[in-house]
Amino acid sequence: MFELPKLPYAYDALEPYIDEQTMTVHHTKHHQAYVDNANKALEKYPELLKKPVWELLMDLNKIPEEARAAFRNHGGGHANHSMFWYIMAPKAGGVPSGKIGDAITKTFGSFDKFKEEITNAGLKRFGSGWAWLVLDKGKLAVMSTANQDSPLSEGKMPILGVDVWEHSYYLKYQQQRGEYLKNWWNVVNWKVVEDNYVKSMK
Ligand code: MN
Repeated sequence: MFELPKLPYAYDALEPYIDEQTMTVHHTKHHQAYVDNANKALEKYPELLKKPVWELLMDLNKIPEEARAAFRNHGGGHANHSMFWYIMAPKAGGVPSGKIGDAITKTFGSFDKFKEEITNAGLKRFGSGWAWLVLDKGKLAVMSTANQDSPLSEGKMPILGVDVWEHSYYLKYQQQRGEYLKNWWNVVNWKVVEDNYVKSMK
């Protein structure tokens, strides 16, 4: 069974960049619905429900066909949001240092260039989806996915992801996805992003 993880900070902790109401609805309604629907999608397959969601997403062909689309959407939603909450924190943001800071500068030329690439990936995603920093065959890369598709299903390890579904910004920023993305950098928890990177390099 999949479970909704606890938010590692208060619902208003990311103010003023992400408002309390958005965080509350996003975590308790949207993410909860992905958890519930992922459990429902696999309810006939208790052996699959024992596995971690990320492992299942790495090989969607192992999901019986009749449950695959529902699991891809809702299991993906569960995994994506579980990462999203942890790569954000209050009093965070800034320029990353350490191994992840070095790797970003080396791969993208500068931190600003990297921010621009993620922002563009998020802005160009038509409709709903995510912009990602992933590890692809040992190298950092920026990509985006539609809906709740996980980079894991394409053989890539997500290191950082930003939700560009309207539900993640509409109450505060309305249609201005660019404004949301600009402000979002103020809540990135680079310590956790670095952990994700270091673990994925192993
Ligand atoms: Mn979302």
